[in-house]
Amino acid sequence: MSEAALDPAALAAALIRRPSVTPRDEGALDVVAAALERLGFTCHRLVFGGDGSGRVHNLYARRGSGRPNLCFAGHTDVVPTGGAEAWSFDPFGATVRDGALCGRGAVDMKGAIAAFIAAAQSYLDERGPGFTGSISLLITGDEEGAAINGTCRVLDWLTEHGEILDACLVGEPTSAQALGDMIKIGRRGSMTGRLTVHGVQGHTAYPHLADNAAHRLVAMLHALTTTEIDRGSEHFQPSTLQVSTIDIGNPASNVIPATAHAVINIRFNDRWTSEMLKSRLAEQLDMVGGRYTLDTSVSGESFLVSPGTLSDRLAEAIRRVTGRTPEFSTTGGTSDARFIQAHCPVVEFGLVGLTMHKVDERVELADLADLTQIYRTFLGLYFDHS
Ligand SMILES: [Zn+2]
Repeated sequence: MSEAALDPAALAAALIRRPSVTPRDEGALDVVAAALERLGFTCHRLVFGGDGSGRVHNLYARRGSGRPNLCFAGHTDVVPTGGAEAWSFDPFGATVRDGALCGRGAVDMKGAIAAFIAAAQSYLDERGPGFTGSISLLITGDEEGAAINGTCRVLDWLTEHGEILDACLVGEPTSAQALGDMIKIGRRGSMTGRLTVHGVQGHTAYPHLADNAAHRLVAMLHALTTTEIDRGSEHFQPSTLQVSTIDIGNPASNVIPATAHAVINIRFNDRWTSEMLKSRLAEQLDMVGGRYTLDTSVSGESFLVSPGTLSDRLAEAIRRVTGRTPEFSTTGGTSDARFIQAHCPVVEFGLVGLTMHKVDERVELADLADLTQIYRTFLGLYFDHS
């Protein structure tokens, strides 16, 4: 392998020019696969889901057949621009301005994918035929969406095909203010509850003949929002419950409503499973009493990958390149790491997330170069311990 060194900024720009808003691919994975095939990776294009808009494009690529197999996981899909006219540049133009590469996906997370591929090239070139492990990439086109036909399905495919991941680095933008200040070693779980309270309709002048669903809903939400769920744990913030909406939609001021609805969202730490939380909710709602239904959906359980070799090596790589000591955090929303952690130890580290999902998303070119160096150093520490 004596290819010219791959420029992560050029590769990131090529990816940004593909407007791959979930679940559209628009050729983004072609760009990734072409870069990887040049480096000797075997690429598997995995398309899951029905025809049309539900169809999700994914990629699993591997170089080498030995162990350990270190996997980099990420996504080429991006969130919508929210109206391109609000942007100071074309969201899919990959403009370079004031030392930053600008466009949707620059930090979340086309930049990190480009950085990892450049790092892999540099590492593989240096090791040459002496490298006996494997480097793989699991890239999905459905992280920002339902995440049903993305990472989950690819992991099933890997299991079916006897592919084993020994460790995984997820390239989400975990840095908070400066590159290297934070890595994620776990994530909180997320559960949504749709609560419907059933009462008896009536005239507001005759409340003794009715059962006001709105009053009971208010009492239930009061109970849920004024009690502490927990005080956090060693690596997690306290669990939180937020009311997302309250809907009664009663147009008449003299009618007592028969039904009232609310949606709550709970972000929970490793003291809870979603099953435990459901029992707790039922207890609290039963205390208020009356007829109600609660439908819950869980987008992810909480998980923690206890700090250990993988996170220590990543932290060491970050220190060597940036001089910073990263905080080991479990804050923020869910990520595809929630699926991968069932297969192998996983850590998450990537660019500064300040502009992600926002208008004028951008990555400093200096950060992109440093991230490439960090990933490169991490590969050396992971495979060669040096
Ligand atoms: Zn992301």
